[in-house]
Amino acid sequence: MTILLNADLHCHSVVSDGTLTPEQLAARAHANGVQLWALTDHDEIGGQRRAAAAAHALGLDYLSGVEISVSFADTTVHIVGLGFDMEDAQLAQGLQDTRGGRGERAQEIGRQLAQVGIKDAYEGALKYVGNPELISRTHFARHLVDSGVCRDTSEVFRRFLTEGHPGYVPHRWACLSDAVRWIREAGGMAVIAHPGRYRFTPTEEYALFSEFSQHGGGGVEVVTGSHMPSEYPIYAAMAQEFGLAASRGSDFHSPDESHTDLGALPDLPGQLTPVWELLEDRILRAPASPAAH
Ligand code: AMP
Ligand code: MN
Ligand code: MN
Ligand code: MN
Repeated sequence: MTILLNADLHCHSVVSDGTLTPEQLAARAHANGVQLWALTDHDEIGGQRRAAAAAHALGLDYLSGVEISVSFADTTVHIVGLGFDMEDAQLAQGLQDTRGGRGERAQEIGRQLAQVGIKDAYEGALKYVGNPELISRTHFARHLVDSGVCRDTSEVFRRFLTEGHPGYVPHRWACLSDAVRWIREAGGMAVIAHPGRYRFTPTEEYALFSEFSQHGGGGVEVVTGSHMPSEYPIYAAMAQEFGLAASRGSDFHSPDESHTDLGALPDLPGQLTPVWELLEDRILRAPASPAAH
């Protein structure tokens, strides 16, 4: 498999905090020229069968995917899992435990927003939720935009829901070693999602990469919709330093909110090993389409 493959291995559906269904995402990925696709909902694999079936109906190859919320050095880090067995019981249980505190956290976010005069935000956010177990800050952000409190979601995350601002509720997610182990023992590869997004000191970032590698993590996102192009070479060098494969994914959530569409990213820098090369035998191939006549 070539590094030039149009692989998009990171996006979200209504099963977590995206606005499109797995079927709509598959169609959009296919229309945009994606050749290998993975749906990576937050802490949830309930959309995987639908995503694989929709991809295969379009002749599109598929890798199972998930994005696990992890607490590391007082920061929330996201670990993407690719190519795991969708039926693995330990992974399913780990994800269910990770989702566990979201309901109460969301109610607390609502109470904090009420204290600064924003009433009924919890009820408002719930209207955008597709999966009752997966209420996220994104759903609050949509409510705050549509009710006129903020102009767009980036204003929401500047003024609310983040550290130092109203509606920030610290939360303990999975631990790094567990998340990597669930993915690996289910036959998949763990990948550090958008490392450029965390506000780590160089020492903390080095600790993340070292511990992730020691636990058996296999890859890092280099080209992602959550990175600036200036960050691609930085994380390409980190991938090489730590012997990690490189991944590529838009992190697409919604046609109205996401700057990077499915399949629209530049290719990975040439000297890297793409994750799809190491996951070759985990790819769920689309059935060969009937010969044209
Ligand atoms: P949660 O898992 O509930 O903490 O929500 C995290 C989600 O919020 C991320 O997956 C993003 O979709 C969204 N998010 C976080 N920060 C921002 C930001 N600055 N701008 C837009 N979306 C953000
Ligand atoms: Mn999200
Ligand atoms: Mn993420
Ligand atoms: Mn994501």
